[in-house]
Amino acid sequence: MTDRSLLLIPGPTLVPESVLQAMAQHPIGHRSGEFSTLMGEVTAGLQWLHQTTGDVLILTASGTGAMEAGIINFLSPGDRVLCGCNGKFGERWTELCQAFQLQVETITAPWGQPLNPNDFATKLTADRDKTIKAVIITHSETSTGVINDLEAINRHVKAHGQALIIVDAVTSLGATSVPVDDWGLDVVASGSQKGYMIPPGLGFVAVSERAWQASKTAKLPKFYFDLGSYRKDGAKNTTPFTPPVNLFFALRQSLQLMQKEGLPQIFTRHERSAGMVQAAVSAWNLPLLCPVESASPAVTAVAPTTIAAEEVRSLLKKQFGIAVAGGQDQLKGKIFRIGHLGFAGEREMLTVIAALESVLH
Ligand code: PLP
Repeated sequence: MTDRSLLLIPGPTLVPESVLQAMAQHPIGHRSGEFSTLMGEVTAGLQWLHQTTGDVLILTASGTGAMEAGIINFLSPGDRVLCGCNGKFGERWTELCQAFQLQVETITAPWGQPLNPNDFATKLTADRDKTIKAVIITHSETSTGVINDLEAINRHVKAHGQALIIVDAVTSLGATSVPVDDWGLDVVASGSQKGYMIPPGLGFVAVSERAWQASKTAKLPKFYFDLGSYRKDGAKNTTPFTPPVNLFFALRQSLQLMQKEGLPQIFTRHERSAGMVQAAVSAWNLPLLCPVESASPAVTAVAPTTIAAEEVRSLLKKQFGIAVAGGQDQLKGKIFRIGHLGFAGEREMLTVIAALESVLH
């Protein structure tokens, strides 16, 4: 048993030492020139990470706050939306949209299976009057370890021509390519405690020009999450409200680390980590929850057969100080999930695989 756990859950993720050190400074005033410089730097870094020249706004919120902002700024009560739902976070989109009186139609797949892009095509091509205002999906479904085919779904949205594509990229951003401009993604929500390698507390929303156009007629109430005010103040490298400045220090450092590594290298590292875990699981003859072709590079969900999933987690923690996640809702007690996003790499994968080998056999 170690006193410092190796955190391999799908968020919060490991934080590099230099990021922790960057945070350990006295706060600065958020209306100072120093903060404006910092904000300019992190905004440029966020655009690089999102592969966009458009806006990426920074909120004091967890990922769900970014998701909420991504709805209330662009839609109106009664708007018809299609929500992809094949796990806990797809359900969250549905609940969020219902909370704001949108007219939600869900496109479902069983938990552990990817959404079928053709299901979206069917609904979108049937919508001749263009009443569908948005298609809303989770890219990497953290609860099941499935990556949904955002590129294919988005092609159908683009063929429709009117609907916005709104994406939860909370565990895909920084783990796999989310080319906001190339794909024409309208709203992309994410949170700091995942691929960003910093602690929880910041939410991010990338917004396309098309989405800003839609915001002009959007009629849902908003105040703290009024993205127009973040955009306006962001143009002057400032924020409408007091931001968590120390998390901005962390963000600057983590973005520098990411830029030093390079986007293709980051994505390859995540694929390699996922591949290492998948290979070990297959060698142990254990089922993955989802088909390997749809496996997320950020998290792997394993359904053990010879030992209870919760027993595996508890032994990993007790014997090796390694924290992996359990299943949520209908998957509670049935799976464990290894997070391999953010700072984790080969060394951490070898460690968790060796520990699992010991626990499972
Ligand atoms: N969406 C996905 C895919 C997630 O994995 C999470 C968090 O685990 C969220 C949304 C919600 O983020 P938060 O808990 O930061 O609000």
